[in-house]
Amino acid sequence: MKIVGTVAAMRGVSAGARRDGKRIGFVPTMGALHAGHCSLLRIARQAADFVAASIFVNPAQFGPDEDYTRYPSDAARDLALCRGEGVDCLFMPAVAEMYAPDRSVAVEETALSAGLCGAFRPGHFRGVLTVVAKLFNIVQPDVAVFGQKDAQQARLVQRMVRDLDFPVRVVIAPTVREPDGLAMSSRNAYLGPAERKRAACLSRSLRLAAKLHAAGERDTAAILGRMRESIAKGEPPVTIEYVAAVDWETLAPVARVERPTLFALAVRVGPARLIDNALVGGVTPEGRPPCRPTIPCHGDTTED
Ligand code: AMP
Repeated sequence: MKIVGTVAAMRGVSAGARRDGKRIGFVPTMGALHAGHCSLLRIARQAADFVAASIFVNPAQFGPDEDYTRYPSDAARDLALCRGEGVDCLFMPAVAEMYAPDRSVAVEETALSAGLCGAFRPGHFRGVLTVVAKLFNIVQPDVAVFGQKDAQQARLVQRMVRDLDFPVRVVIAPTVREPDGLAMSSRNAYLGPAERKRAACLSRSLRLAAKLHAAGERDTAAILGRMRESIAKGEPPVTIEYVAAVDWETLAPVARVERPTLFALAVRVGPARLIDNALVGGVTPEGRPPCRPTIPCHGDTTED
């Protein structure tokens, strides 16, 4: 595995792979890797001949009160996991390599980013799209893999690729979960034992939404009410930031589940802000059936 830290070196590696006739798959991450990231690397491996990953904790996507400086990191473990997954090149730039001090251009999306996390984290998706656009220009992938765990982010990247004509196919991969249903996340490391147990309330509420839908309920207000009730039950107390039902294509709120509908939520559990979602009532653009949050994955990629 090549490890590179400069834009020029990464471009050189990608150009070499391309000269050899290889298709490049790419998985951008912020490190503190877990089985969810590994599943993305495996999907990239299936879709491409050369797999590049990046580890970059992007300051531009953290708000002033957020956890940028204490974001978890374990470089030795990350390298071992990437080697284990057969990553060909790992791009680990320093902040100064990615951002000129007088930078003045950014990527802004104005529709899909308005609701859900976008409403609570001003500037977050601007930071995400700007760094993803830069990474796409540096790595020049044919295929990039993003997790459905961050569904709004993944849909925004698909929209950016469409609207700005990046020659990249964006694949959305299923969410990998712990045995109790909790979506794997680097931020789960912030949870104490009681909070960790309590954090299962997110996926439990999504299973409830899928169950109510399967029983014929189509009114999203009714489903969201039941989800809120189920989240509120239990100790220690948690704070719901949002629980929403939105159209998968537009991410606009929907009153009834008539098309593929994303049930999405953000909940503060102790020091951690956790997000999760489930797609109900249809198939994703890749033709996957709705995600079934009941099924723990243990690192495989076949949740659906
Ligand atoms: P992060 O390192 O948190 O920025 O995540 C990097 C990529 O991994 C993003 O595309 C995430 O959506 C994806 N990801 C994070 N957690 C999971 C998970 N539990 N299952 C699948 N993908 C995930």
